Amino acid sequence: MSDASKKTLLLIGGGNAHVELLRQLAIEPAPQHDIALFDPAPSVWFSAMLPGVIAGHYQPSAAKINLWALCQRARVRFIQASITEVIADLQRVKVSTGESHFYDYLSLDIGSISRPIPATPGSYVVPVKPTDTLLSAIAERESIRSTSLKLSVVGGGASAVEIALALAYRWRDAPEKKITLVTEGALLSEFSSRAAAAARTACKRLGVAVQEDMRVEQIEPTRLRLSGNKQLETQITILATGAAPPELLSKINVQLADDGYVAVNSGLQSRSHKNVFAAGDCATNPKLVVPKSRVYAVRQGPLLASNLMAMMRGKSLESYVHDEKALSLISLGDKRAIAARNGWSVSGSWLWHWKNRVDQKWIEHYAFDAEKR
Ligand SMILES: Cc1cc2nc3c(=O)[nH]c(=O)nc-3n(C[C@H](O)[C@H](O)[C@H](O)COP(=O)(O)OP(=O)(O)OC[C@H]3O[C@@H](n4cnc5c(N)ncnc54)[C@H](O)[C@@H]3O)c2cc1C
Repeated sequence: MSDASKKTLLLIGGGNAHVELLRQLAIEPAPQHDIALFDPAPSVWFSAMLPGVIAGHYQPSAAKINLWALCQRARVRFIQASITEVIADLQRVKVSTGESHFYDYLSLDIGSISRPIPATPGSYVVPVKPTDTLLSAIAERESIRSTSLKLSVVGGGASAVEIALALAYRWRDAPEKKITLVTEGALLSEFSSRAAAAARTACKRLGVAVQEDMRVEQIEPTRLRLSGNKQLETQITILATGAAPPELLSKINVQLADDGYVAVNSGLQSRSHKNVFAAGDCATNPKLVVPKSRVYAVRQGPLLASNLMAMMRGKSLESYVHDEKALSLISLGDKRAIAARNGWSVSGSWLWHWKNRVDQKWIEHYAFDAEKR
């Protein structure tokens, strides 16, 4: 095959769908193409195990997928950098290092960020992502020993509950550290009332104060200004406020859906540029309601992989079939968990051990060791 027929595929972000593509390429490489992955970090966090890392149940390295090793194995170039702009009409991306790269095909799997809340300068606000920033903020606070701390976690969904309870478990012998979970609606409102009750019980058990139906209007350096003219003393605010589009999507000239994410069709292909694909949190098919969660990013992985390969071989694309049914496993800090599906839920310590086995198996699935090549 001549070099002119060698197509360049750029993968932006080591999200769940791209990790699956890399796993498939590790088994069956595509040396006829030039494929590169851009991510600011050489490994990606497995978010399901992050609460366990915070609680101290896992070492950080046990909850990461090594993108660099996976790329080595898949014969994909790994470039440790962020993409800062996509000029789709010129088929070029701009990189944080100042370079620009041409592509024939582009695929985005860059996740989402926490929905921002207005904050006064000087406020200490930490979004749940990037995970490294969250973990360093926690470690920094711990390095200042024996000082009292008032920390708020804003959000009422699964990740807010998991983070607040994991921190409470981590600081179970530090009563001077007070954690409050603040949510504008009810806790775990998208799950059953039984799941919400189990979360409230866990908060009580681990000493997390819960403020429900309380909207955070403004974050200030020493307090949160809440709806109804109320306020809450706080020094650090963790945002687990649900998904919002990442910054890159404001610097990309492909069609966006009304919610600000890349508008894709059923084949995960951009609605405006046929050579651009997107999957996971950063993509929205306006015809489907797909929650921004890892479960769906993972389910899109095999389809994204086969459609990218089909596109490069000039074959026709397949469609994503959305299945609303998904099992959610929510950890409760102290090696207990809730399992919830379709309005049904159950909780207990055996579920955490089951979740632990499922998560460990998942990580092993992607643990390609570059040295074993
Ligand atoms: C604490 C917590 C627990 C969670 N638990 C669960 C759970 O149990 N189940 C569940 O379904 N969901 C869970 N979620 C939600 C889940 O993490 C996300 O929905 C999921 O990770 C989205 O996957 P993704 O493939 O879209 O992107 P991600 O997994 O977020 O990966 C995006 C990647 O893109 C990279 N990137 C970002 N911007 C750029 C750029 N400009 N250039 C290059 N690279 C870039 C990032 O570094 C990252 O590696 C949890 C979230 C949190 C915060």
